[in-house]
Amino acid sequence: MARYKGPVCRLCRRERMKLFLKGDRCFKEKCAIERRGYPPGQHGTRRGRRAQGYGIQLREKQRVKRIYGVLEKQFRIYFKNADRKKGITGENLLVSLERRLDNVVYSLGFAGSRAQARQFTRHGHVQVNGRKVTIPSYQIRPEDEVTIREKSRQNPFIRVSVETARGRGVPEWLQLDPENFSGKVLRAPNREDIKLPIQEQLIVELYSR
Ligand code: SF4
Repeated sequence: MARYKGPVCRLCRRERMKLFLKGDRCFKEKCAIERRGYPPGQHGTRRGRRAQGYGIQLREKQRVKRIYGVLEKQFRIYFKNADRKKGITGENLLVSLERRLDNVVYSLGFAGSRAQARQFTRHGHVQVNGRKVTIPSYQIRPEDEVTIREKSRQNPFIRVSVETARGRGVPEWLQLDPENFSGKVLRAPNREDIKLPIQEQLIVELYSR
């Protein structure tokens, strides 16, 4: 399946929750979920049947995929790897998604959305431990230092993102130095650090069918 290129607010409306796909707009009253919190399309306002079983599990999986901008094939690989690891599969899955480089760039406030963070990474604006990394799915480890390349610090999009994200704070497992466009990974994230209202167990049940 190809990457979705349509209006992203439709995805939030479809999932009936904020997926934070559009940067600063997501935090304002212009957000489509605030104004039209029902599914898109001509039947969106109709009272339909409540999703059950498979439908609920599918929606939960789609939410996580859309939040992190991962396609089905890659998502399945994440799931397989999470299943192989020790511990709770659902939590392992969320933690590996959270450790993606594009997610860390977004969480540090260097980009307005994960999609933009992905683009910045692809375009070579991001360094890990002083070396350019252009792979958005790169898995960040404790002690890693994520920085914006010296040359790219004048990029107006990056500057705007850093300014707008200033008051928002960063997750506890990261430490931000906004003056130097740099962030440090203090430790690996755990489930409590991931504030998304996701029931990951439903995804495990879906793939275990
Ligand atoms: Fe989703 Fe952001 Fe659009 Fe709101 S503004 S519907 S959170 S993408």
